[in-house]
Amino acid sequence: MAHRTTTAAPVDPSGDALLGLFPPGTSTAPDGGLRIGGCPVTELAARHGTPALFIDERALRDRAGRYADGLAARRPDSMAAFASKAFPCTAVYRLLAEEGLGVDVASGGELALALAGGTDPAKVIVHGNAKTEDYLRAAVEAGAGLVVIDNFDDIDRLEHLMARTHGAGGRTQGVLVRVTPDIRPDTHEAVSTGQRGSKFGLLPPQAREAIARLRGSARLRLDGLHVHIGSQILDTEPFVRAVAAVAELGRFPVYDLGGGLGARYTYDDRPPTVEAYLDALTAAVDALLPAGARLIIEPGRSMVAEAGVSLYRVVTVKRAGGETMVAVDGGMGDNLEVALYGQRFEAAVATRVHRTSGGPGELCRVVGPHCESGDVLSAGVHLQDPRPGDLIAVPVTGAYTYSLANNYNAACRPPVVFCRDGRSRPVVRRETHADLMRRDLP
Ligand SMILES: *Cc1c(COP(=O)(O)O)cnc(C)c1O
Repeated sequence: MAHRTTTAAPVDPSGDALLGLFPPGTSTAPDGGLRIGGCPVTELAARHGTPALFIDERALRDRAGRYADGLAARRPDSMAAFASKAFPCTAVYRLLAEEGLGVDVASGGELALALAGGTDPAKVIVHGNAKTEDYLRAAVEAGAGLVVIDNFDDIDRLEHLMARTHGAGGRTQGVLVRVTPDIRPDTHEAVSTGQRGSKFGLLPPQAREAIARLRGSARLRLDGLHVHIGSQILDTEPFVRAVAAVAELGRFPVYDLGGGLGARYTYDDRPPTVEAYLDALTAAVDALLPAGARLIIEPGRSMVAEAGVSLYRVVTVKRAGGETMVAVDGGMGDNLEVALYGQRFEAAVATRVHRTSGGPGELCRVVGPHCESGDVLSAGVHLQDPRPGDLIAVPVTGAYTYSLANNYNAACRPPVVFCRDGRSRPVVRRETHADLMRRDLP
């Protein structure tokens, strides 16, 4: 199936449309320079260098509040848990813990970061399709609220672990069973997880078997079911179908309906708002699941994507007919979403945003310095007279960029900087060449 985000955007955006992709609160100075969280981009680049990832802290807190409060208003017994693989750094865990959110982890590393970031262990949900004994032990010892059973080996390992570590009179561990509902949302194959043949979860017949086994367990307490059908989903209907699928497996005290709401990356994307998503989801829950059931959701991408802006410096511009090649100082090392999923990103010359509204600009391809033709940040975008030394801003880079960043070509991973009320504060420093050699043994 063709992924809708691979088509080139036909529109030439006005300055207003462009600002609409940046975090709320982004503005332009009279000279056309972007301000992120009140901080002029030229100052941000001078102070923190490029490439760098800037997070509008207010935008992130606001989004967390819309999720947590919006869910609580619709279902009082509920929890919004951040699917932390979308942005696993301690500053983000800390911020979301302050906002009262729970956290999803999918590895021992994410668990360690969540705990270091001050997450209440009772609000941690433990995921993974290949949980090692070490990971499960760390989760149990930390007092993680829920472990999501993905397979029968999870049950065996957890049973043994509880028997060994907590003795006969010990506590029980709350668990959910992850159901594969055989739903294929319209998104990229690599981020579709709920279809038949998925490596995640159990199809209904096997889920029923796991439920029966867990009901007979003395140490594992079956609280309910989990379902997560994929990522970057741009309409509400697949989520409603997922609720219907879990409803057929019986009545439970807890339902965790996963994440997956899409972010608005391009002018053409029209994802449901958080509120429209919550309306559709809770309407389906009210209609199909037990009245008193506790509801959990796990937004990842839609929690953090739109709070992020990446800044790059133009190194060289090549004009040879067709798209102008604008090569910048970062690329697939710090944003792998394009190469991995064909995700489309827009871009703008960050110091001349006001002029974008004046004309069509130049059809450009923003590329990185890595040794692959797939090293693209933004294809088919219109930029105003891009020149070496210009700053290029790529909006909506808060999700899965930090977590998928890599050292291809021994690139140093960029810093993360929180911006708020005109002040910028680094929360992850830039990697150095010494960092690149830190694990090398003589
Ligand atoms: C990745 C993941 C999520 C979050 O998905 P997003 O598309 O980032 O919202 C939620 N739950 C589970 C189990 C996941 O694996």
